[in-house]
Amino acid sequence: METTGLDGYRDRIIEIFLLSLGKSGEVEEYETLINPERPLPAKITEITGLKDSDLVGAPTEREVAAEIREFVGFGTLVAHNLPFDLRFLNAMFKRNNLLEMGAGGIDTLSISRSLFPKLCIYPEGGGSHRLSNLMYHFGLEDSYANAHRAKDDVMLLVEVFRHLQEYSMGQSSILYPEAVTHGCPTCGSAMNVTYLGDQMVLNCKPSCAARLVI
Ligand SMILES: [Zn+2]
Repeated sequence: METTGLDGYRDRIIEIFLLSLGKSGEVEEYETLINPERPLPAKITEITGLKDSDLVGAPTEREVAAEIREFVGFGTLVAHNLPFDLRFLNAMFKRNNLLEMGAGGIDTLSISRSLFPKLCIYPEGGGSHRLSNLMYHFGLEDSYANAHRAKDDVMLLVEVFRHLQEYSMGQSSILYPEAVTHGCPTCGSAMNVTYLGDQMVLNCKPSCAARLVI
């Protein structure tokens, strides 16, 4: 989802994309823009490319909250930073007198943190466990770079989730050097990646200046 800001109660959802994966493999999608009935901060337009003029004609949350609640139903929610999405969804459900969701679900952010305690930071990957960094980590950038809209993020999340599952079950085809997943061998900080031809160079800066070529 995309939102007007970070505050789950004061800010509003402006775009939502939900993908439902059924037990026997059936896939359903729900997607809508939502008119937040307030001007968008410039920063949000910059990040998402969405402008006020894209949202004025969109339904308000009063018009879509019930169908979103119905779509989510009693399924298991999967999200990257699940508490963030839950706060926004539940605040919207509450404002519209709908049943709030429980705290359960699968948070790929906390799974990533536990599997890769000090994941390295890839070029243009953002913070260590950001979805964009995981995109580079799992080599998905050819299909997903430049995403920052609700649907693209969800499609990327599905792939990232699959890779996290494979890795946690020991079925991943990729073996990562310790410094990639557990940080600098000297000081424990997350390493920054640069590339030297095909080789990965891990730099620990500004922490201890350790440098490893892999
Ligand atoms: Zn270090």
